[in-house]
Amino acid sequence: MTTSDHPRRSPPDLRPDYAAAAAHAQRTAVLASVEALLGWDEQTMLPQGGGAYRADQVAAVASLVHSARTDPAQRDRLERLAASMEGGKGDWSDEQRATVVRLLRDLHKQLRLPPRLVEEIARACIDGQQAWVDARRHSDWKGFAPKLARLVELKREQATAQSPDLDPYDALLDDYEPGARSSDVSALFDRLRPGIVALLRACRGSTCPPRDDLLKQHVPRSAQERFVRMVAERIGFDFTRGRLDSSEHPFCSTAGPHDCRLTTRWDESYLPTALFGVLHEAGHGLYEQGLRPDAFGLPRGEAASLGVHESQSRLWENLVGRSLPFWEWCLPLARKAFPAAFSDASPEAVQRSMLVVGPSLIRVEADEVTYNLHIMLRFDLERALIRGDLAVADLPTAWDDRFEQDFGIRPGTAAEGVLQDIHWSGGLIGYFPTYTLGNVYSAQMMAAVETDLPELSTHIATGQFAPLLHWLRERVHAQGRLLDPGPLVTNATGRPVSERWLMESLWNRYGPAHGVGTSPPA
Ligand code: ZN
Repeated sequence: MTTSDHPRRSPPDLRPDYAAAAAHAQRTAVLASVEALLGWDEQTMLPQGGGAYRADQVAAVASLVHSARTDPAQRDRLERLAASMEGGKGDWSDEQRATVVRLLRDLHKQLRLPPRLVEEIARACIDGQQAWVDARRHSDWKGFAPKLARLVELKREQATAQSPDLDPYDALLDDYEPGARSSDVSALFDRLRPGIVALLRACRGSTCPPRDDLLKQHVPRSAQERFVRMVAERIGFDFTRGRLDSSEHPFCSTAGPHDCRLTTRWDESYLPTALFGVLHEAGHGLYEQGLRPDAFGLPRGEAASLGVHESQSRLWENLVGRSLPFWEWCLPLARKAFPAAFSDASPEAVQRSMLVVGPSLIRVEADEVTYNLHIMLRFDLERALIRGDLAVADLPTAWDDRFEQDFGIRPGTAAEGVLQDIHWSGGLIGYFPTYTLGNVYSAQMMAAVETDLPELSTHIATGQFAPLLHWLRERVHAQGRLLDPGPLVTNATGRPVSERWLMESLWNRYGPAHGVGTSPPA
C-alpha cells in the first residue's frame, strides 16, 4: 500500500516497534533452528554415548527459546501495535496486520501457561515416551496406562489455561491446525467415512485385486541411494539447500532457511520403502524450500499448519508417485538403476501394484484407502479422552471394539492396538486429525491443478515437474501462515474445503485397479 493517497498515517513512533518485533521473532527462530538441528543430529548421527549430554544441550537451548518466546518487551511491542491496528486503524498493510495478530496469539498462548505446568508436561512427556517404548515392546498396557492418564490430565489443564474460551480438545487441535474446530473436523470425517468404508468393502470383494509381488525384487542399497536422490532432485528438491540421510523413521527437519534435511530408510528387497519415504519427505521439503527465506521466523515465511504440510507430502507421495504418468517417466530410469529388476514389467503393471488395499492393524503400514479410518478412530478416542467421556482404563477395549467394527479384524495384543503410536505418549493429542486433513487438502489441490494445467499428465510422464511445483509455490508455499489453513486452501483452489475430491480421487484410482468401477454401487 502506498502512503501518498492515504492521509491517515499511524503514529510514526510505532514503525520502529514493528521492525523490532519482526527482528525479535527472527532472532527467536535462529535459536529454535539450533534446537531443530540438535534433534536432527540425535536421530541420524549421535553416538549412543552422547545421549545424556545431548539432553542437557537440548534443555539449555529450549529454555533460551522459551524465554525469547515469552519476552515481556516483545509482548509490550506487539500489544501496542495491535492496539494501533484495531478496527482497521492505521496505515498498515494486510501482511503487517496478520503478522502482529499471529505473533501476539502465539505469545499469549505461551504466556498463559504457568511455568510449573510447562515443566510438568515436559517431564510427563519424557516419562511417557520412555514408558511407551517398553510397554509397546512387551505389549504391557497396564505399565503405560498411569502415564497416559497423567498426560491426559495435564493436557486438559494446558488446554484450559492457554485457550480458556475454547473447548479443551479444540484448544489442543488449534496448536497444530490453527482455526480448525473439532465439530467441523468431525462433520467432515462423518461425510468421508461411508464412502471409504464402501470402497474398502468393494476392494475386498474384488475377484482380481492388484498384487505387489513384482515390487519385491532385490535392489542394492547403493543403487537405491543414487536413484531416490535423483527422483528427489527431478521433482525439484534443491540439494544445495538440503540433504538426504538415513534414520529409523523417515522425517523432514528444517535447520535454517537454506538447510532442509530429509531422511529415509532402506529395504533391499522392496524399493517402495525408500522411494515413497523420499517422495513423502521431499514433499515436506519442497514446502520448506518454497517458504520465503527472508521471512524465516515470521508468519509470511512459515508453514500454515501440520495439515497443509501433510498435504504437500501426500500430494507428491500418493497423487504423483502412485500415478501412471509418473511410472511412464520413472520406470525406464528404474530399469537403468536396477538392471536385474523390473525388466519385463510395464508402467501399467508397476503402477497397479502400488494400489493394493487391505486392512492392516498398524497405521504406518496402512494403504491410502484404509489410512483415514485409522485416523478417524484415533480422533474420536482422543477427543473423548480429553472431554472426559472415556476413561483411560477403558481405552484398549474401546480401541479394539471400534477397530473390529471398522476393519473387520481385532487386534490380538495392545502393541498391535492402542500402544502402536508414539504420539499420545509424547503428549501429542489433537495431532492425528491433521493427517486426514492433509489428504483432503492434497486431493482438493490436485483437482484444482488438473483444471489449471490441462497438460499435467504429459508433463509428469516426461519428467517435467516444474509446472506443478510452480503452482504449489505460488498458491501455497509463498503464502506462509498469514491465513489459517481453511482459508488458505480455499484461496488456493477457489473452493471451500471439502472431502469430495479425496473421495473421488480414491474411487477413481482404486476402483478401476480392483475392477469395481469408480463410484459406490447405488
Ligand atoms: Zn508427513
